[in-house]
Amino acid sequence: MLKVSGLSVAYGPIQAVRDVSFEVRQGELVSLLGSNGAGKSTTLRAVSGLIRASSGSVTIEGRNLLALAPSARVSCGIAHVPEGRRVFASMSVFENLALGGYTVPGLAMEETLGAVFDLFPLLRERRNQTSGTLSGGEQQMLAIGRALMSRPKLLIMDEPTMGLSPKMVDVILAKIDDIRRQGTTILMVEQNAMDAIRMSSRVYVMRTGGIVFEGAGDALTPDIIKALYLG
Ligand code: ATP
Repeated sequence: MLKVSGLSVAYGPIQAVRDVSFEVRQGELVSLLGSNGAGKSTTLRAVSGLIRASSGSVTIEGRNLLALAPSARVSCGIAHVPEGRRVFASMSVFENLALGGYTVPGLAMEETLGAVFDLFPLLRERRNQTSGTLSGGEQQMLAIGRALMSRPKLLIMDEPTMGLSPKMVDVILAKIDDIRRQGTTILMVEQNAMDAIRMSSRVYVMRTGGIVFEGAGDALTPDIIKALYLG
């Protein structure tokens, strides 16, 4: 479904991602792993258009994305849940969700909203609450719900459990599993490597801007992981 070939991204003189190629097939949950600064977030941002690639190609179902603005990529079926959640704190839960749906015209908003509320009943209860007063885990549910409002084919998630309590980490990861089971393809960066490996169809490990391992998670023993992370 998603094909990334020879992707390179630079921040001025800093080459953050170099010649990265990977794919995500229909129905898969694929994780990008690796230590801080490896280029994982930059890769996700280049796919969803939040940052410009210097070379390479990104296609979804054969359609080239790199020339498109982020909003047009949403229309192609890509939704990005950013690192740090970034919900609109002064707006209500409902208003945040409505914003997630408006970029794709013609969606049955009420029906999609119902599906998001079924996945996250807490958001239904809190639909009129100001989003900034939600806990971190609840804000993460909202950020995921907002992304689902565009009915993405590919859901991109950057560190969805960052800063959450161990209990809430389990809740969020279980929801991500549910979303995949319901048929949404997922590309994720997750710092809990063992959890990510357990949940993923396949993983890619990045180091200093490149991919150093690709395969099924069960090929990654703790020793191999340590070696890949530490170099
Ligand atoms: P982390 O888990 O710390 O977010 P990451 O694997 O997602 O790590 P990136 O955030 O993609 O890594 O960063 C890749 C490289 O690009 C790093 O060297 C980082 O310092 C650099 N970088 C990231 N964002 C910027 C920016 N806005 N301006 C300049 N350099 C940046």
